[in-house]
Amino acid sequence: MKSTLTKICVICQQPFHPVRRTKQRQTVCEQVACRLQRKKNTQQQWCQNNPGYSKGRYHELKSRIQARR
Ligand SMILES: [Zn+2]
Repeated sequence: MKSTLTKICVICQQPFHPVRRTKQRQTVCEQVACRLQRKKNTQQQWCQNNPGYSKGRYHELKSRIQARR
């Protein structure tokens, strides 16, 4: 008997079969909307975990652009 691994998508709450080749823990189904939403969520989480990083990066970029002129 085949063991079908089914997971529940954290975005749309629909059951899906994770793709074997992805080594990362797959938490969303393959729908584009769900993947985009997950990307948004992880980016938000990352920004919360790394406060000031994007801000510092922005200033760095800005000073680089100003230095070119
Ligand atoms: Zn989904």
